[in-house]
Amino acid sequence: MSAPSRPLVAVRDDLRALDGYHSPQVSVPIRLNTNEAPMAPPAAWRDAYAAEVLRLDWHRYPDRAATELRIAIADSHGVRADQVFAANGSNEVLQTLLLAYAGHGRTVATFEPTYQLHSHIARLTGATVVEGERDADFALDLADVRRVLADAQPTVTFLCSPNNPTGMVETEATVREVLSLVPGLLVVDEAYGQFAPWSALALVDDEHPLVVTRTFSKTWSMAAARLGYLIGPTWLVDELDKVVLPYHLDAAKQIAGRLALRFVGEMEGCVGEVVAERERLASAMTLLGVRVWPSGANFVLFRVPGRGGNDVWQGLLDRGVLVRNCSSWPRLTDCLRVTIGTPAENGEFLRALAEVLG
Ligand code: PMP
Repeated sequence: MSAPSRPLVAVRDDLRALDGYHSPQVSVPIRLNTNEAPMAPPAAWRDAYAAEVLRLDWHRYPDRAATELRIAIADSHGVRADQVFAANGSNEVLQTLLLAYAGHGRTVATFEPTYQLHSHIARLTGATVVEGERDADFALDLADVRRVLADAQPTVTFLCSPNNPTGMVETEATVREVLSLVPGLLVVDEAYGQFAPWSALALVDDEHPLVVTRTFSKTWSMAAARLGYLIGPTWLVDELDKVVLPYHLDAAKQIAGRLALRFVGEMEGCVGEVVAERERLASAMTLLGVRVWPSGANFVLFRVPGRGGNDVWQGLLDRGVLVRNCSSWPRLTDCLRVTIGTPAENGEFLRALAEVLG
């Protein structure tokens, strides 16, 4: 893209200092940088989707309430459809939540390091962001959580389990404890939820200010579809329906999501394969002398002792392997994050890493 021209109109004061969200894409053979699923969705899903899309009434707006999709999602979790809100990726779910519950004069709490979009979108809505700290191993420090919540009185508090980019899964006891402490909403981002041994979904009801967000981008192998959702109290879903744009979910996407849910067994099979590969990769990396953080997701965070993160990242890239460079992120000095790919891709990554370590 060309360099931006001189602005004729000033952007909002609070946006001027804000950087965009960057996830550099480089065209290389092995891309293990964005936590996508390494395998395509089932062929039977593609066929069913193509057949339904052929019959679409393209001249009509889609079902604004995404009724059938919401029912299918609700059924898959054993909740009611009026507890489900769906949008274009879980990022849009988060944005809608924050438009409704954050904004000027309100505070949003995150515990860093965590998914950068939580604080970024909160700032875009004009909210004040308060960043609590995790301990040296990236675990939540409940004393710090208590301090942040008491001091800042956030309207929205984020947890992410498994946490991106550390991979750590929060325990049920921790989530219950934080839920009992929050003065506002607790949002548990479970983008990688199917990899974890438990889910906060079971804690959602109308009596608790708890929301769990999920996505079709990872475990469902459907990053291209841009579809995510939340399960939350009905009083909250009602408000989000007011905030989101009319007809935000196109008809083809509604079909894609509804049909995907018929293939739970296949999805779980893929999750199992990715977990097995993750453990293989983590053991091999440890044998190479790399520090690997235990992960409950489809990626691992790692650091090479005595080597700069940028240097290792570039060495991998020179060998055709792209991973996420977290080296310059606060609290993650020299850390990199690798997404679990196919066995062949993971083999290439290990071979490149061994070479870089020399
Ligand atoms: N939450 C977390 C923790 C993520 O890692 C991601 C994707 N990187 C998202 C939400 C957004 O996913 P999507 O918008 O593709 O649903």
